Amino acid sequence: MGNTLTYDVVIIGAGPAGMCAALYAGRSMLNAVVLERGFPGGELLNTELVEDYPGFERILGHELAEKFHTHAVKFGAEFKNGVHVTSVRKREDTLFDSETSDGDIYRSPAVILTAGGTPVKLGIPGELEYAGKGVSYCAICDGAFFKKQTIAVIGGGDAATEEADFLTRYADKVYLIHRRDTLRASKILQQRLFENPKIEVIWDTVVDRIEGDDQGLVRSLRLRNVNTCEERDLASTGAFIFVGFRPNTGIIADHVKHDAMGYLLTDGNMETSIPGLFAAGDLRSQLTRQVTTAVGDATTAAIAVEKYLKSRGNGSTEIISTGGYSA
Ligand code: NAP
Repeated sequence: MGNTLTYDVVIIGAGPAGMCAALYAGRSMLNAVVLERGFPGGELLNTELVEDYPGFERILGHELAEKFHTHAVKFGAEFKNGVHVTSVRKREDTLFDSETSDGDIYRSPAVILTAGGTPVKLGIPGELEYAGKGVSYCAICDGAFFKKQTIAVIGGGDAATEEADFLTRYADKVYLIHRRDTLRASKILQQRLFENPKIEVIWDTVVDRIEGDDQGLVRSLRLRNVNTCEERDLASTGAFIFVGFRPNTGIIADHVKHDAMGYLLTDGNMETSIPGLFAAGDLRSQLTRQVTTAVGDATTAAIAVEKYLKSRGNGSTEIISTGGYSA
C-alpha cells in the first residue's frame, strides 16, 4: 500500500514544458510537484544543439535543460525523478489521483500533463531484435558508437534531418532513407543536410528488414524502392529511426478529447476537455512542437491553473494548499 501525497498541482513530465510550468507554479506560490520517470530535460536530452531558443544562439540541449531545471528549483518547484506515473484519474470529488508504479498517489485539484511523446517504431523485422545493437532512436546517446562507420537514418522530418547531420560528426557516411521524394523537414535543416558531403539521401525508399551479423550487431538494411519495387541490401552498421512521435497520453484514465493522431485538444488556457486537467508541450495538438511552443503552452497552463484554483476557492470545492504527506 503506497502513500497519498497532496499538492495544489501535479505536473507530469520534466521536459521543457514541465520545467517551465513548475517555474510559473513556483512563482505563484503554488505547492507543485513535478513527477519525472527519468531525469529532467525531456527531448532536450535527445537534442545535441539548440539554435532556435531566443537569447541562446547556440546551446547544448542538456545545458539548456540544466538551466531550466535550476531556474524552476530556484522558485521553489519540487522535482521527483525516477517516478513513473501509471494513471491519472478524476475522482468523484473532482480531485485528481495520479498513481505511480510504486503505488503512491499524488492527489491534487489540478494536473498539468507535460509527458511529451515516445518515438514511433517502424515495426519491421530486426528492429526490436537489434535495438541497442545498431538500432537507435537517439543520436546524441548512441552516435559516438559509430565512429568512422557507414550508417543510415530513416525518416524525412526535422528529427531525421537534424540527427543525420549531427551523426556525421562520428560516421564517415550517413544515408538518409526517406519514403517520398521531398522532405517534411524545415528548409534550414534541409539546406544543412544537402550541403553536408557525408550525407546521401535515398529517396522513395523504405526499409523492409534490418539484418545482423554473427555477433548480433546490425550489418545491413533491406531496402525497397516504393516506385519500382526494386529491392537491395545496403551495408550499414547503424539504423537511426526518426519517423515521428506518439503523444504519451495513455495514462489518462478518463475519456479526453484528442485529434486523429491522439494529441490532446485544449482550449486557449491549455485546459483539456476534462476540467482541471491541463496539457502543455509535445502531447498537445498544435502546428509545431518546439521548445519555444512548449514553454509558451506551459506558461499559459500554469497561470490558468492558478486561476482555476482560485475559482474553486470562491466556488464549490476547497483548495488543497497544505501539500506534504498523509498515509
Ligand atoms: P515528423 O515531423 O512527424 O516526421 C516523421 C518523418 O518520418 C516523416 O518524414 C515521415 O514521412 C516519416 N515516416 C513516418 N512513418 C514512417 C514509416 N513507417 N516509414 C518510413 N518513414 C516514415 O516527426 P519528427 O521529425 O520526429 O518531428 C516531430 C516534431 O518535433 C515535429 O513537429 C518537428 O518539427 C519537431 N522537431 C523539431 C526539431 C527542430 O526544429 N530542430 C527537431 C526535431 C523535432 P512523410 O514525410 O512521408 O510523412
